[in-house]
Amino acid sequence: MTAVRETGDAVEADLEGRGSERFDRVLIAVGRRAATEGLGLEHTKARMDGRGFIAVDERCRTADSHLYAVGDVTGEPMLAHRATRQGKVAAEAIVGRPVAYDNVAVPAVVFTDPEVAWCGLTEAQAAHEGRAVKVAKFQWAASGRAATLGRSDGLTKLLADPESGRVLGVGITGPGAGELIAEGALAIEAALLAEDLALTIHTHPTLSESLMEAAESLFR
Ligand SMILES: Cc1cc2nc3c(=O)[nH]c(=O)nc-3n(C[C@H](O)[C@H](O)[C@H](O)COP(=O)(O)OP(=O)(O)OC[C@H]3O[C@@H](n4cnc5c(N)ncnc54)[C@H](O)[C@@H]3O)c2cc1C
Repeated sequence: MTAVRETGDAVEADLEGRGSERFDRVLIAVGRRAATEGLGLEHTKARMDGRGFIAVDERCRTADSHLYAVGDVTGEPMLAHRATRQGKVAAEAIVGRPVAYDNVAVPAVVFTDPEVAWCGLTEAQAAHEGRAVKVAKFQWAASGRAATLGRSDGLTKLLADPESGRVLGVGITGPGAGELIAEGALAIEAALLAEDLALTIHTHPTLSESLMEAAESLFR
């Protein structure tokens, strides 16, 4: 996109090689960067990484033992629920409790329609790392609940370790994907097997069954 203009009740955008097109809305997501300058960190022993984020250990402590840092200033993934978890870890660490930010699954959701949600390993990451994974996909066209909602366009995807069957990643697209991904995060965090999801009774008719169905398909 090279230019954007408001034209009455629409937005006109110039697209490279495609001329101008009109849209109801334009969402500009340009990314974010660290805003750690001006905090006076240079007067402390805290260290920054190469991208301007504050380096912390698993207890959210900086290289300056009196300073803790949580949230976006500590880098990716820059998400509110990750910041909250880090905040709890830091608070407990400060009072001397044996805690660590050692979470393996930080779910992410794109709140579009349909919603897109994922956590853990993605197929693209697995391919990039040359890691073997079993992939199960359940099309919502086979979901009774999706049919009653008139939204059979969703998909639930499960990635599992081919040897152990451990759930490594979950991706969901469809209405409510942002809610459904919580089960995937729990499965990964608790090191559940795909079989555990397959053998867990899920309420019928709900979209949550799609996780059970995807897991079951790994054993067919
Ligand atoms: C448009 C947008 C949409 C987002 N949507 C989501 C979403 O759907 N889900 C999700 O999980 N996350 C979302 N995020 C990310 C989420 O907002 C952040 O991950 C989260 O707010 C991080 O919390 P934080 O406490 O680290 O930082 P912040 O919430 O940014 O809090 C930092 C605070 O420090 C203050 N501050 C900064 N500099 C100074 C200073 N020098 N002195 C004193 N105070 C200072 C700021 O004013 C701010 O109040 C979104 C972010 C953006 C920008």
